[in-house]
Amino acid sequence: MSTAESKQELNPWQSQGMLFEEAVGHLNLPAGLAKVLREPSKEIIVHIPVQMDSGELEVFTGYRVQHSIARGPGKGGIRYSPDVTLDEVRALASWMTWKCAVVNIPFGGAKGGVVCDPQKLSRGELERITRRYTAELLDYLGPERDVPAPDVNTDEQIMAWVMDTYSMHMRHTTTAVVTGKPLELGGSRGRHDATGRGCMIVCDEALKKFKMARDRTRVILQGFGNVGSQAARHLYQEEYRVIGIAEKAGGIYNPHGLDIVALMDYRKEHGTIVGFPNSEPVDPQELLLYDCEILLPAALENQITSRNADQLKCRILCEGANGPTTFAADKILEEKNVFVIPDILANAGGVTVSYFEWVQDRQGYFWTLNQVRERMDRILRFGFYDVITYAEQQNVRTRIAAYMLAIERVASAIRLRGIYA
Ligand code: NAD
Repeated sequence: MSTAESKQELNPWQSQGMLFEEAVGHLNLPAGLAKVLREPSKEIIVHIPVQMDSGELEVFTGYRVQHSIARGPGKGGIRYSPDVTLDEVRALASWMTWKCAVVNIPFGGAKGGVVCDPQKLSRGELERITRRYTAELLDYLGPERDVPAPDVNTDEQIMAWVMDTYSMHMRHTTTAVVTGKPLELGGSRGRHDATGRGCMIVCDEALKKFKMARDRTRVILQGFGNVGSQAARHLYQEEYRVIGIAEKAGGIYNPHGLDIVALMDYRKEHGTIVGFPNSEPVDPQELLLYDCEILLPAALENQITSRNADQLKCRILCEGANGPTTFAADKILEEKNVFVIPDILANAGGVTVSYFEWVQDRQGYFWTLNQVRERMDRILRFGFYDVITYAEQQNVRTRIAAYMLAIERVASAIRLRGIYA
């Protein structure tokens, strides 16, 4: 989206606010309680000095927003990107609150971000940024306080550095302070592909609802990172027809279906999906408008906007990314009768297995991959069923139903706890 276009759309925090207001409008909540739910409970900004490899001292800005801790410790990823803003982190933190409530896991919502470009940083610089950021947030993090996880441009290694830094200060190893860790350090089996696999589970539920067959379901994805590649792989292995992938560097298309396992190998070898044999190169923005049954955005916010929403041809939109659809676009999709599996449900597989990781770390007892998967599937299927049933009962679109369900659950926790004065 160009800067001029993005000005016409709301930013993610504003979009979240509009959806929140719309959902609250259907609920009978006291105005004061809605006020409490609307604002993040804590916003921390840090400016962290880091010694660069060149010997120069650089200062990076980092954020951690805790939107709500009413239902449990804050939970949410850390994002490294040159475009991170406080409003983006606020939106992502509030979505974590609603997401954890929709799938009914005992966490609140939080999110973090550091304004940096990991592509331009050495491993040593990344480690120093991560450790100093963690050290600055020491008073706010902890297994009972706020538990980070990976997000865009952060991975298992970065989570290991967060865990080690926190543990060094605590003087004992505290694996449960962060999730998405390597298996050797208290990570959970099935965490790496949980978000993508969760997308497949909710797509399966949507197919059941519409009596559609997997092998006749064409899928186009945007983004081939952690979420996109794992969603594509699981869908492919379950015999969906994945016909297109839109990446930052270019799109690829094959109407007969792409071999996703071979594509993952190709990307590993060539560093890009572009040029993959048996595919034609296509414009990544155009690809979102191709004919398909499922469109699965798994890249960034604000990708489906008032500019392109009307031209989408999918029957189902499964939001692997957080906030890929703007508020204006959401209304257009409703008019077009596109079935939306909203982000706070569709990508909840990741936080669900993060919850399992936290439980396993605290127990010091680890589950098999089958146990993780069975338990995650059950939670997501219940979540899907809850949202669909609620949408039908309340006669609202699925996204608003998911918000309403989540807001009610968080409001109920606040009511029961009372307001401490
Ligand atoms: P990632 O960094 O692994 O992957 C992002 C991918 O998107 C990259 O391949 C990048 O090249 C691509 N991309 C960026 N801009 C693009 C553009 N304009 N067009 C097409 N592709 C583009 O990040 P991720 O962890 O896969 O996260 C993706 C989304 O899913 C984010 O919105 C994130 O918040 C959300 N999410 C992630 C998790 C998780 O467990 N990682 C969980 C829930 C939600």
